[in-house]
Amino acid sequence: MPAAPAPTSTGRRFLEDTLVVASHNRGKVAEIATLLAPHVKTFRSAGELGLPEPDETGDSFLANAELKARAATRCGLPALADDSGLVVPALAGRPGIHSARWGGPGKDFGLAMRRVETELADQTDRSAHFVCALALAWPDGHLEAVEGRVFGRLAWPPRGNHGFGYDPIFVADGHSLTFGEMAAADKHAISHRADAFRRLVARCFS
Ligand code: IMP
Repeated sequence: MPAAPAPTSTGRRFLEDTLVVASHNRGKVAEIATLLAPHVKTFRSAGELGLPEPDETGDSFLANAELKARAATRCGLPALADDSGLVVPALAGRPGIHSARWGGPGKDFGLAMRRVETELADQTDRSAHFVCALALAWPDGHLEAVEGRVFGRLAWPPRGNHGFGYDPIFVADGHSLTFGEMAAADKHAISHRADAFRRLVARCFS
């Protein structure tokens, strides 16, 4: 899979004081606020503003990020949303946009990782990548969107207990530790989320 194009700086600049993070997940809101702290004066969250959580009915990461961001602009402020997941080419791209759902109602990612391994069966292609889509929407309908990726391969059995989700079975290209074994700062330097935020900052915040 070719690497995503280099960040460009042709997007609409974010010049407002306040940005709504279109999420009800406090951890995610805090992480995004930290990443954009140098560029944004005030953050609000969709949860705090009592905005409804739209159903993620899109057929791509970008479509889901876009529908969450657009829904949050109904409060009259620009809004940023993300959508992310693990893409396994040998499984026709699954779990993909259903990555969170594979954990089931109990968010059991031990179960989700076993499902990936079981479905891979004796496939020799163990390549995988994480994707993070970010959509920044303005109340006038303008939208800027970027996607970040990190490429690697799937390990089995799972290793390490840092991070979350599928981290214990993902080994990034050029590395030997899984994301679950890496220190948080080392993962965050190379992750799909870091890549997406670098692209967004280059387009809209610098
Ligand atoms: P959402 O973007 O919050 O809807 O969640 C996406 C799902 O993808 C998460 O629940 C995880 O299962 C998976 N995922 C996304 N990013 C990561 C990551 O950095 N490590 C491990 N799993 C991830």
